[in-house]
Amino acid sequence: LPFVVIVGRPNVGKSTLFNRLLRQNKAMVHDRPGVTRDSLYGRVQGRTRDYTLVDTGGLVLEQGAQLEEEIYEQVREAMHSADLILFMVDGSAGVTALDEQLAAMLRQSRRPVRLVVNKVDGEERAALVEGDFYSLGFDMNMVSAAHGYNMPVLQEAIESSLPAHEEPEDQAAHLRLSLLGRPNVGKSSLVNTLLGQERVLVSSRAGTTRDCVDVILEKGDKRYVFIDTAGVRRKTTISDDLERFSALRAIRSCQRSDVALLVLDALSGMVAQDKKLLSFLEREKIPLVIVVNKVDQIPRKDLGKLKRYFQDELAFCAHAPVIYTSCITRAGLGGLIPLAEKVLGQSRVRVGTGELNRLVRDAVQAHQPPLVKGRRAKIYYLTQPGTSPPEFVFFVNDPGLIKPAYARYLEKQIRKSLGLDVTPVKLFFRGSH
Ligand code: GDP
Repeated sequence: LPFVVIVGRPNVGKSTLFNRLLRQNKAMVHDRPGVTRDSLYGRVQGRTRDYTLVDTGGLVLEQGAQLEEEIYEQVREAMHSADLILFMVDGSAGVTALDEQLAAMLRQSRRPVRLVVNKVDGEERAALVEGDFYSLGFDMNMVSAAHGYNMPVLQEAIESSLPAHEEPEDQAAHLRLSLLGRPNVGKSSLVNTLLGQERVLVSSRAGTTRDCVDVILEKGDKRYVFIDTAGVRRKTTISDDLERFSALRAIRSCQRSDVALLVLDALSGMVAQDKKLLSFLEREKIPLVIVVNKVDQIPRKDLGKLKRYFQDELAFCAHAPVIYTSCITRAGLGGLIPLAEKVLGQSRVRVGTGELNRLVRDAVQAHQPPLVKGRRAKIYYLTQPGTSPPEFVFFVNDPGLIKPAYARYLEKQIRKSLGLDVTPVKLFFRGSH
């Protein structure tokens, strides 16, 4: 799918725009997320085209002095990977110094950029503020993301700015894998070792809007695709060594893959960047396998200790299966793809309403929802509107009565009765009468 990225300084309304574009023609299944927080990216079903939309505002983690540098970083990333950049400014505030600086960066971009002037509530305001923003030098739309003014025009403009020819995805692919992790943990070595002597096809997507090189492995009648290995194989430079966690890059790979392989280094253990990446994957509920590589560097007698260490560090993402590998001794490598296939299988599970409702009845019978201020949640029924990963919606009398501990209990019951031990799952609670 084309990749559309919203950038801009804080408080211009990026997340409001994101929510409006994402929700406008989508039934509101998600009244209130349960254990799942809102996502930072999603698929927009447009009138003529679908695309992936990312809100970089939610990716900015730093505050204060670090903030500006982080915004520049997001813009640089967007210039590298987006098919269309929506550069958002605040129509009620005029052009600020930071806007000017971002505009100067974006004018260097070879990607299409569209200026979105927000907080403009109607024709009159639009006529007044329009002149202020011409100097930035982009095609622009004046909108109110909060009240909807001009949103259909913007939507139309976005769809018509997307590249005309979309690269078709490999339909024959049995499993698409993306490789994530810090530089030098062994991502390219893993791809190379797994490919080994097998027949390898390289599908070069260079020359299209994004330079992606997918590597295809054919085994029997199965076809595995390693997504965007150009990024993975790129020779490490000093700046890459200093490279920080990039959620945008992770999103870009994960939106095209079925399962992500998060590669960690047995010798260095989990560092801050690994933790950020894993919290991001957990938050976005991306199906994944954790690969602890370079175990040949650990003395045999310390392997038990190593596994206990990673078990503790990874406890907050307990569903992700862990495999210990070495590209040198080939330890663990045989199990890697079967494990990813197991995650894939579970992430695509579809369960009928009958089975789901038996499950709810049993779960509530064994352990009913606790009283909250004298009231008790009543669960009417459970449905599964989506997969990859499985998404479950509980229809209840009042979503406010489901506390996190009970949501976790329900998730545990779902996992147990449906045999979902290695896939993420999403739970939502919706009010109904
Ligand atoms: P990438 O940046 O994540 O793609 O990492 P590379 O695949 O380029 O590997 C970085 C370095 O680690 C190279 O010198 C590899 O030879 C080495 N390496 C990769 N896998 C292993 C492993 O399993 N054991 C050991 N000892 N070294 C490894």
